[in-house]
Amino acid sequence: MRRCKAPRPRVVFSACLVGENVRYDGKPVKDSFAEALRDHVEVIGVCPEIEIGLGVPRDRIVLFKEGDEPELAQPSTGLVLTERMRRFSAGFLRSLSGIDGFLLKSKSPSCGLSRVRIYRDTRARRFRGLGRGIFALEVLRRFPYLPAEDEGRLSDRERRLRFLLLIFALALLRDSPDTADFHRRVSSSLRIFSPGLEKRLRNLPDPSAYRVVFLKAVGKVPTPVLLRMFGDFVPPSLRRYVDF
Ligand code: SF4
Repeated sequence: MRRCKAPRPRVVFSACLVGENVRYDGKPVKDSFAEALRDHVEVIGVCPEIEIGLGVPRDRIVLFKEGDEPELAQPSTGLVLTERMRRFSAGFLRSLSGIDGFLLKSKSPSCGLSRVRIYRDTRARRFRGLGRGIFALEVLRRFPYLPAEDEGRLSDRERRLRFLLLIFALALLRDSPDTADFHRRVSSSLRIFSPGLEKRLRNLPDPSAYRVVFLKAVGKVPTPVLLRMFGDFVPPSLRRYVDF
């Protein structure tokens, strides 16, 4: 088989994870894995809170929940920002194409995919539980099959490895004009995992249909199988973060 050149995943980052001083307190965020990763991917940085017109520094904003859905508010002013954030998120995410994954900031009421504090009221006086930020929820709704993580969850080595393998796999597929060539690379490993899936993909001559089926299926492929298929594409300087 022809040797493929290393693909360059296109990853949407929370802007504060790629060195932009956009946090409410203007302080930088230090995350060595995000810093290392950005040298090997095409970075699309976004700060949803800046995009909805909040400045730096700004009074903190929080999630609160009175009904079924979490909402966004600024406790110091009582301002409810949910609609502004939802409108921005939907428009921004609709404008994206050819994206291979998301790396977002944990605990943020906008970007957090995990461990975001939710209060019972706009003044954040009573704690209610933990959840996800408004922008992050929209990411999961619109891109349910793409790898999406926050830096907090990626402290787990297994998750980190899986995230890397998935973004490089999707970038390789996106870069492959010929899905038959891509399929030859993955077929033997895929057959071990699921002969039915391998056969179904082999018999899909239409590249866009192939991409859709692969995207929906790849999230279920076990990490050791992904490693066999795509481990070669993870750059050596990132391997120390995943121990292989
Ligand atoms: S977590 Fe998201 S909204 Fe908050 S500063 Fe970072 S990019 Fe902006």
